[in-house]
Amino acid sequence: MSKNIVIAGAGIGGLCAALALAKRGFKVTVYEQTQKLTEVGAGLQLSSNAMHVLQALGIADTVKTKAFRPTAAVMRHYKTGKHYFSVPLGDAATHKFSADYLHIHRFDLHTILLEACEQLKVSIHLGQEVQSYEQSSEKLKIKMKNDRCLEAELLIAADGIKSTIQGSMLGPSPADFTGQVAWRGVIAANKLPKGLIKPNANLWVGPNKHFVSYYLRGGELVNFVAVQERANWHKESWNEPGNINELQQAFNGWHPEVTELLSATDSCFLWALYDRKPLAQWVDGKVALLGDACHPMLPFLAQGAAMAIEDSYALAHCLVFAKSTQAALQDYQNLRLKRTRYIQLKARKNAALYHMNSSLGRAKLAVLSGLANVGLSDLLAANQLDDIYGYNIVKQLEQRRYV
Ligand SMILES: Cc1cc2nc3c(=O)[nH]c(=O)nc-3n(C[C@H](O)[C@H](O)[C@H](O)COP(=O)(O)OP(=O)(O)OC[C@H]3O[C@@H](n4cnc5c(N)ncnc54)[C@H](O)[C@@H]3O)c2cc1C
Repeated sequence: MSKNIVIAGAGIGGLCAALALAKRGFKVTVYEQTQKLTEVGAGLQLSSNAMHVLQALGIADTVKTKAFRPTAAVMRHYKTGKHYFSVPLGDAATHKFSADYLHIHRFDLHTILLEACEQLKVSIHLGQEVQSYEQSSEKLKIKMKNDRCLEAELLIAADGIKSTIQGSMLGPSPADFTGQVAWRGVIAANKLPKGLIKPNANLWVGPNKHFVSYYLRGGELVNFVAVQERANWHKESWNEPGNINELQQAFNGWHPEVTELLSATDSCFLWALYDRKPLAQWVDGKVALLGDACHPMLPFLAQGAAMAIEDSYALAHCLVFAKSTQAALQDYQNLRLKRTRYIQLKARKNAALYHMNSSLGRAKLAVLSGLANVGLSDLLAANQLDDIYGYNIVKQLEQRRYV
């Protein structure tokens, strides 16, 4: 059980995996390339499927104290505000999925994970970049950027969408720019007219753009994500300080709930959205990919971090119950590949729906609008999300039989 496990990357996926493994009694060391641990100043939707895992890892109650519990997920027309659908969350989600649906600041979730890892003596090293690995049937050697070489029994690559270890495993392949950028920002709620932002996951859809807003920290802060299609991204970096005037201009003429929020905002970040085709392989001997390193996805279902959280629990469970490390990793891949591939592709499809930019997308919106007129779109939208939010990996694994 003292298996010596190295994790590359201390993002939400790496820290969640470290916690899940340390809880199972493994000795875990995390190497993070940045000198200082920071998560981008933005929010995260934590759906019930992710909350089941955080509950099992013993941090759900702390997460709840820092979060905001939205009432519904509502999609509306960018100009008129007409509802396409409203899916109840709040008590309804808790009752239906047996776990809350929450909104949390990334920094808060990251801090909670970090503190829980430290309590379990996970060792975290900053400013340490993992470069590649080599393995034989006996040994796994991990090469660091400073030419140091480590030995471990298992390497978990939670090193994000630009994963170096994925390159080492499968050969280098750059992620694809999706032709979309996302502005992200957080604003104090008291800078906005009271009641302007509804206590929902608010989604506004319009031509070539969409906009999302929701509360964080019990309602103290409002988070927004504004996505726009753009032909290219020239910068080397994947994110940079955004130009607030450009953002306000891009959403000029949208519903006042969007434009008033933006006119009260004075800073934001701009991100390029990248994507990869679903992979057929995530494991190689004693090495496994996890989170965005193996299944990055467009944020249009708010499931990227949730999938990394589910992966973490699955991987730790497989390592406890399988007969060998290799068998455990294969089991982990078999368990996770189909679900993450499905969600990756489903998130891509939402771009067409949210941006009114294909005849299929426009036809779907017209159907939703017609169904909304007769009160049926809410049911249809809820059904589309049930298989994502209603999935409980903790229960699924508890029910497994091992011989
Ligand atoms: C606009 C936007 C909104 C989103 N909203 C949501 C949402 O509401 N809900 C949700 O579930 N998901 C959301 N996501 C997706 C989510 O942010 C990601 O899926 C999640 O953060 C992935 O976590 P990760 O730990 O796998 O990767 P990352 O967060 O990328 O972490 C990787 C870590 O590895 C480190 N690293 C990289 N290379 C190396 C190396 N060679 N050696 C050592 N360390 C290394 C990096 O510095 C980083 O700390 C959103 C994404 C975007 C862009």
